[in-house]
Amino acid sequence: MPDPIIIRLPDIGDYRDVAIAEVLIAPGSTVVRDAPILVIETDKASMEVPSLFAGVVGEVIVRVGDRVSQGSPIASLRAADAFAEEASPPPPARDPEPRGKEIRCGLVVLGGGPGGYSAAFRAADLGLDVVLVERHERLGGVCLNVGCIPSKALLHMAGLIDEAKVASAHGLVFGAPRIDLPAVRRWKDGIVGTLTGGLTGMARARKVRVVRGTGRLAGPHALAVEGEDGATTVRFERCIVAAGSRPARLPFLPDDPRVVNSTGALALAAVPNRMLVIGGGIVGLEMATVYSSFGATVDVVEVADHLMPGADRDLVEVWRAANRDRFHRVMLGTRATSAEARPDGIWLHFEGADAPPASERYDLVLAAAGRTANGDRLDAERADLAVGRGGTIAVDRQMRTSVPHIFAIGDVAGAPMLAHKAVHEGHVAAEAAAGHAAAFDAIAIPSVAYTRPEIAWVGLTEASAAAEGRRVSVSRFPWTASGRALASDAAQGATKLLFDEATGRVVGGGIVGAHAGELIAEVALAIEMGADAPDLGRTIHPHPTLSETVGLSAEVEDGICTDLPPARRPRAGAGHRESQGARTAIA
Ligand SMILES: Cc1cc2nc3c(=O)[nH]c(=O)nc-3n(C[C@H](O)[C@H](O)[C@H](O)COP(=O)(O)OP(=O)(O)OC[C@H]3O[C@@H](n4cnc5c(N)ncnc54)[C@H](O)[C@@H]3O)c2cc1C
Repeated sequence: MPDPIIIRLPDIGDYRDVAIAEVLIAPGSTVVRDAPILVIETDKASMEVPSLFAGVVGEVIVRVGDRVSQGSPIASLRAADAFAEEASPPPPARDPEPRGKEIRCGLVVLGGGPGGYSAAFRAADLGLDVVLVERHERLGGVCLNVGCIPSKALLHMAGLIDEAKVASAHGLVFGAPRIDLPAVRRWKDGIVGTLTGGLTGMARARKVRVVRGTGRLAGPHALAVEGEDGATTVRFERCIVAAGSRPARLPFLPDDPRVVNSTGALALAAVPNRMLVIGGGIVGLEMATVYSSFGATVDVVEVADHLMPGADRDLVEVWRAANRDRFHRVMLGTRATSAEARPDGIWLHFEGADAPPASERYDLVLAAAGRTANGDRLDAERADLAVGRGGTIAVDRQMRTSVPHIFAIGDVAGAPMLAHKAVHEGHVAAEAAAGHAAAFDAIAIPSVAYTRPEIAWVGLTEASAAAEGRRVSVSRFPWTASGRALASDAAQGATKLLFDEATGRVVGGGIVGAHAGELIAEVALAIEMGADAPDLGRTIHPHPTLSETVGLSAEVEDGICTDLPPARRPRAGAGHRESQGARTAIA
């Protein structure tokens, strides 16, 4: 049985050393998540304090009248997981007769992607006996094998081609690039091999047993794995489902080698003359960037009336202006409705705002219209595990599913489908499975499009703030005023920050420009730490750097930026806050 959890006083804003007015729990009482356990008395009001965990109360550590601050221990709790398993042990009849080999473990992790291997390694570090089941020879999942890493390798190559072209305009003239595709592929595959090989070594070092094969749930405590070496039944106490996602299929597209998904595009078999990218999201635009830099004439079609859903529109406009000559056509508010494979190419018909009048011929079509979670392929019903529409598995803050000893993380647990979210969820699930009081409580998860220029955003955007009715003020620093951006030929960029009108804290940020994906991390930290504009603006950023634009954007919010023209209309009584024109307030 796992050690009891100590419930501590959570973040209660700026209050410290407050008195307990009421204790709402007693030893032996059952607590559900978010139920009040205490009432505390601040100088302004009394406030109920909820439990972040579910379970049975052991010892109550505090009494009425005690004074507490954030982090003070309140009570010990036996987690719902242990509680639920004890209350209703799994009916043995439902777990199948073993097929083939049988192995037992404390924790099985299904799927060896970034979520799965991170969970497995964390759990092993915490002392659990872990089995990791993966159907592919190489660990690393989509991200390392056919996602984040190979795409960034190709984008790096594309960037070198683009940089050389730009340099020619400034007096440093290179000849036209000679692209040796097999060598480019070898380089990309070598990076993937290095990373995935490293994972196998790290699994071995942690004594994580890796079972190769396709796993399906066979009961609440059993996983049936079919692999090249035959069948294995893995009997487990706890399970973390990290089965990821697959590219969404567009049913009208023919089965033809000239029609590919992101995996096919990353294989870079050849550079086509004419290419269509269906889907103007991050994956589609990254691949469109690679192929256009390598010399293809690329069209993009997107059913929404804007590219890169989720990013602020004004940032996307900066990207569009910078990419005006990169693409042949960007069709917005338009859908590809039918396709026909003919000897001379794939012929596509379009409908919508920007649809061409007749069908168009392409040498390569990339379907990048989203991804579907793999929860529908696991025989989840055999463990009574609820799977939602689109194959996603709903979880609580500890990543527990409808079956408390089964967790789900990463893409299979739903949007945003990003590797860094999968990793953090994996750590939480592993810690919770080991009996720790872990919960996924990130305020914001950054997103990055590694296009040229990059676009990155975190927390609220102007659109999401407006949709939520949040009053925010928005400050913007244009990169035309950044010495480093100008000196790097990267002046097409902007850094914007969103501040909560009531608290002054940073609640969102977006950056378009070179290395935006690196720069956004500071904004993510600012959000998590509850920083405000003076915190960011008075943090000394090195000069000349692009990171300065984050500090300068915060100075714009405060009206103290000396790298932009002075205020035209200071607002009476508002101090310096309304001063620099690049700041707007929205509700
Ligand atoms: C082209 C592309 C580029 C991307 N770029 C980025 C990026 O730059 N940054 C970013 O954050 N994200 C990026 N992503 C998304 C990122 O790859 C995913 O969010 C991430 O891989 C999800 O991790 P995961 O562990 O949840 O699942 P996955 O990586 O999908 O791993 C799941 C694993 O489970 C295995 N599996 C599934 N079912 C079974 C089964 N029944 N039995 C055994 N094994 C099974 C699979 O083989 C796979 O190895 C990109 C995706 C694509 C397609």
